[in-house]
Amino acid sequence: MSEGEFDIIDRYFKRLNGLESGVVIGIGDDCAILDIPAGHQLAVTTDTLVSGVHFFEDVDPYRLGYKALAVNLSDLAAMGATAKWASLAITLPDVNEPWLAEFCRGFFELADKYQVQLVGGDTTKGPLSITVSAKGIVPTGQALTRSHAQVDDVICVSGYLGDGALGLAAKLSDTKIVADQQPFIDALELTEPRLTLGQQLIDHASSCIDLSDGLSQDLMHILKKSDRHAQLHLEHLPLSEAILTEIDSGHLSLSEAWQYAVTGGDDYELLFTISKHKLASLRMRLSEQGLSLNCFEIGVILDPNNSPLTGERLGFTHLQQPVTLKKTGWDHFK
Ligand code: ADP
Ligand code: MG
Repeated sequence: MSEGEFDIIDRYFKRLNGLESGVVIGIGDDCAILDIPAGHQLAVTTDTLVSGVHFFEDVDPYRLGYKALAVNLSDLAAMGATAKWASLAITLPDVNEPWLAEFCRGFFELADKYQVQLVGGDTTKGPLSITVSAKGIVPTGQALTRSHAQVDDVICVSGYLGDGALGLAAKLSDTKIVADQQPFIDALELTEPRLTLGQQLIDHASSCIDLSDGLSQDLMHILKKSDRHAQLHLEHLPLSEAILTEIDSGHLSLSEAWQYAVTGGDDYELLFTISKHKLASLRMRLSEQGLSLNCFEIGVILDPNNSPLTGERLGFTHLQQPVTLKKTGWDHFK
């Protein structure tokens, strides 16, 4: 970038009061050097946010900084990893200092909450784009994956579904699709990575994924990798107070709400499968510690060789009756 590149790095990205967890060399050399504790493996993920594709050009920079890190931490959560470090490649059209300050405030507020240290990156000039790579550690051999869902496992989700997708739809639509769009836009822009839950699920959940592209599409990844079928029970889909209020006031029908919950992206909740027995023992163990499990039971994993579903892996029921729903989620190339 221009002459200001190193000033920007020093002023905004290099923080002297950083946490020093495992960082041998941080920002300022050609690479960061990090110590991985014995008995652990490194979990690495990257997500890019492009202006006009993943966010609106006039997005609040605080929320953009927050979300750029949040979506990466959500991937670490889905593997049961403890978040440790991040790098940030940022392309800026120009140096707008108030914008950068707000971007960093959002990024570091979330980083500090989960003790994630920014250890490197790249700063260039061009159309606004942000790529974060987050790194975490997971006990050797214990990472949660998409591949081991078992027949009769309960399908669980960590929080409300459909709000983020409604927020996006509200922003894109010329007509008013909800009476009060703010709670949905907040859900879209200020997602909470479920890192604590992910770590609690180690040794208990049989598979896990984070919901970025929509419940049915993301569940299909588990079903394909695990070679299973599944049924989701629509009456058990967790709907937020905000959605229920829109339904009560007649702005949204229940079936529209289900459609957002099933196919809408941007939930960033964890979807996991777990045996009934392990779910009960996990709830018990947490309640002994005064904690509760963030978990709604929404369906069941089925044996493909003994499944009521004909020709498809995923079915829906409402009060035990089969229901047809559109299943397509988000795909950048479609
Ligand atoms: P190099 O040319 O060796 O790749 P740079 O001159 O691009 O290194 O960057 C100098 C230092 O600043 C490196 O340690 C790099 O990781 C760090 N850095 C650059 N941009 C960022 C950023 N946006 N956030 C955090 N660290 C950054
Ligand atoms: Mg270099």
